[in-house]
Amino acid sequence: MSAPPLKKPTVTEREARQVAEAAREQDWRKPSFAKELFLGRFRLDLIHPHPVPSAEAVRRGEAFLAKLRAFCDTQVDAARIEREARIPDEVITGLKELGALGMKIDPKYGGLGLTQVYYNKALALVGSASPAIGVLLSAHQSIGVPQPLKMFGTPEQKQKFLPRCATTDISAFLLTEPDVGSDPARLATSAVPDDGGDYVLDGVKLWTTNGVVADLLVVMARVPKSEGHKGGITAFVVESDSPGITVENRNAFMGLRGIENGVTRFHQVRVPAANRIGPEGAGLKIALTTLNTGRLSLPASCVAAGKWSLKIAREWSAAREQWGKPIAQHEAVGAKISFIAATTFALEAVLDLSSQMADEDRNDIRIEGALAKLIASEMGWRMADELVQIRGGRGFETAASLAARGERAVPAEQVLRDLRINRIFEGSTEIMHLLIAREAVDAHLTVAGDLIDPDKSLQDKAKAGANAGVFYAKWLPKLVAGPGQLPSSYSEFKHAGVDLAPHLRHVERHARKLARSTFYAMSRWQGRMETKQGFLGRIVDIGAELFAMSAACVRAELLRSRGEHGREAYQLADAFCRQSRLRVDELFGRLWSNTDDLDRKVVKGVMAGSYEWLEQGIVDPSGDGPWIAEAAPGPSERENVHRSIG
Ligand SMILES: Cc1cc2nc3c(=O)[nH]c(=O)nc-3n(C[C@H](O)[C@H](O)[C@H](O)COP(=O)(O)OP(=O)(O)OC[C@H]3O[C@@H](n4cnc5c(N)ncnc54)[C@H](O)[C@@H]3O)c2cc1C
Repeated sequence: MSAPPLKKPTVTEREARQVAEAAREQDWRKPSFAKELFLGRFRLDLIHPHPVPSAEAVRRGEAFLAKLRAFCDTQVDAARIEREARIPDEVITGLKELGALGMKIDPKYGGLGLTQVYYNKALALVGSASPAIGVLLSAHQSIGVPQPLKMFGTPEQKQKFLPRCATTDISAFLLTEPDVGSDPARLATSAVPDDGGDYVLDGVKLWTTNGVVADLLVVMARVPKSEGHKGGITAFVVESDSPGITVENRNAFMGLRGIENGVTRFHQVRVPAANRIGPEGAGLKIALTTLNTGRLSLPASCVAAGKWSLKIAREWSAAREQWGKPIAQHEAVGAKISFIAATTFALEAVLDLSSQMADEDRNDIRIEGALAKLIASEMGWRMADELVQIRGGRGFETAASLAARGERAVPAEQVLRDLRINRIFEGSTEIMHLLIAREAVDAHLTVAGDLIDPDKSLQDKAKAGANAGVFYAKWLPKLVAGPGQLPSSYSEFKHAGVDLAPHLRHVERHARKLARSTFYAMSRWQGRMETKQGFLGRIVDIGAELFAMSAACVRAELLRSRGEHGREAYQLADAFCRQSRLRVDELFGRLWSNTDDLDRKVVKGVMAGSYEWLEQGIVDPSGDGPWIAEAAPGPSERENVHRSIG
């Protein structure tokens, strides 16, 4: 008997949280620098001396980067991609021939077997030539078919799909639906087991990057619970030319104009059981685990944007003279250039450190990867915005228009548009705050969670109380004093007159302060803590700054020890830490002195319509139509815009 098709799920906030919680990886088998940091323990030993790749990894990685650079220089016309809103097919074919689809795939399946460090360097390089190409490659390899198969696929699945992914087939990842964004508990696409043991997929997926040209798809669909089927959200590999699949639209965006992003409808699409990745119900866990390292691709594009912004800011600010001197010499402009330089250095430090730790596999980097995504997407956007400001009116002008009137075609406004999505996809900033905050308070919830859980019995609460007593009796006293208070701590971080030790001492002291603040907030708000998003966001942002400062210092010391611009690296790390410390101080201040309560009142008024009078005096140019498109399952009534490349 086939199970009946699913009804569209209705989900409460509590249920949404339970689904997210069930998808969390709960075990911590390896040490985590960032987890320790949130607990007030600055474990510099986990990241210093900075880990380094093997000579063989460097040789292979550099050889590929050289080929990729030559390809970008000669074959990629970024202006054409922007103009035509499409990556020419011959460019994609060239990338396939270069092996770029298989950068991260094991050579035994025909891939290049690059490390995470070099994979990210390659994405940064190609993304600087054309962000749309960077996104195509990362959607394919960081979240598309290769990564979940590498981690959770059977030997047969790897044998069948990975050689195709490494050489010819473009893949895509399909989770989002018109009614499912940050909250996967609402996922409505169904995968109903049939009598023969296969699955039948029905539903509509939205905003699938690569979806218009993909050959293979990873689809998240909900299997209904029935006899012999545990059910739940499940991952499948699906051939994109399976009967019943229609790509109904090619979507267009504010930036990343060249991406092949689509709406994909599944109507009674038969998928063999052999294509299920992992067990039923494991789909979200697979997606989240894939993202642990997958999230590092996005910081790679932000680092590339920072490097480019720095180059343009330097060249332009020397050439442009106003009020009697080059604009770089006006303090207000100089400060922006300093911010871009220091932040680019720190973001690259965060990226390379997290990537190298991922390669070594000695540490758990799930929080570092998330912190890297969060801080890189926010800072990348700010750097690009500052570049637009430094370029003045030319920053707002398109590259094509600049070229048309005889000036250098600098696409500053495009970079700003291209970067904006980074704060939204692969976990929006707001969701990253919640996700990281959950990990930051994990130790507390593990020992004391039952105390604040309304569903627990008095007996459970009493037991939790005793456990918590033991944990806090040991933990709290350690937050009082530490090496950050000793003037001699970390004294090896001094070079050419620049002393980074005070910054590391600052990180140590403020990690303890962060943990004390978190503990205090938990005691104060208990079960309501999860609703305090303003507070949690600031806690996480402080953690991200402390991590970035640590990464910047250990990178500077690594470069010094190798004789690679040590003096300048120390200067940049120093500048970043000083800028970051001001942000940290402000964030700590706003933990307890803020407008959170007032904002809650104002938004209540806004939503009740009390301030609608304020909206008068304008016209709303938005068209009619529903806010969210109906996505009822059924046959497609639209033309299939899917196309294959090569
Ligand atoms: C260019 C592009 C490419 C994409 N590529 C893919 C892809 O390849 N595959 C795929 O599956 N998806 C893809 N997406 C979807 C993307 O991942 C989602 O846009 C993202 O997850 C956010 O979902 P949403 O847009 O529905 O926003 P919503 O979830 O509706 O959120 C709207 C706002 O509310 C906030 N918010 C939501 N919930 C909470 C909460 N609990 N607490 C606080 N704030 C909250 C969000 O942060 C956001 O600011 C892509 C999207 C775009 C635009």
